[in-house]
Amino acid sequence: MTQEQGPQDPALAARLSAIDEKIADAARRAGRDAREITRIVVTKFHPASLVQALHALGVREVGENRQQELSAKAGELPSLDLRWHFIGQAQTNKAAAIRRSADAVHSVDRDRLADALHRAADGDDILDVLVQVNLTDDPGRGGVAPGEARSLAEHIMTLPSLRLRGVMAVAPLDEEPQSAFARLRSIADGVRDVEPTATWISAGMTGDFAEAVAAGATHLRIGSAITGPRPDRG
Ligand SMILES: *Cc1c(COP(=O)(O)O)cnc(C)c1O
Repeated sequence: MTQEQGPQDPALAARLSAIDEKIADAARRAGRDAREITRIVVTKFHPASLVQALHALGVREVGENRQQELSAKAGELPSLDLRWHFIGQAQTNKAAAIRRSADAVHSVDRDRLADALHRAADGDDILDVLVQVNLTDDPGRGGVAPGEARSLAEHIMTLPSLRLRGVMAVAPLDEEPQSAFARLRSIADGVRDVEPTATWISAGMTGDFAEAVAAGATHLRIGSAITGPRPDRG
């Protein structure tokens, strides 16, 4: 087995193209161009061989939510032209390891994490980062409070090895995704006042990606609808 050609998996190919059709439909209904939407396949809990199979189907953007898993899989697949998106809660002391493997970090939710990612820069490489916003009432969930998103964005702008790309959020379970994503969009507008090129809105998962497309999401993070059910965490 070479790294260029993953194992054939017709069911995986079928799920991937079904989701892409649904994204295209949602974009059409919203009067948007599907080409401005990036579909990230979330591969957490699945082995590197699944990432390889996705790559063989043309997937280039993948997402992981745990540092150890990100580092292990990226390390197993060094020759594949993949972009790794880190989407999970990050401990400050894992920032250097995350930075070594990730091309983008969606889950920056405090100044200290931004500082740690910046300090871990290697030479003059630039890391794409997003401000994660907590749309729930539970302060224990990941993300900065909506009212603090702008000041975190301003802080990121002082760190030259980070490139502020936009905002990320997960819709709360107890709220219609439409209203949650509408709030995210207005927060995104505030962040764009800080940095006009920070246009990414990372929102939408298996259960709510069509609503996210309608609300202007530019990056969808879709896991189980494409990969199939996740194996037990073990
Ligand atoms: C797991 C995960 C996803 C994907 O979830 P699915 O429901 O499987 O599509 C998206 N975003 C984050 C932050 C995740 O942790």
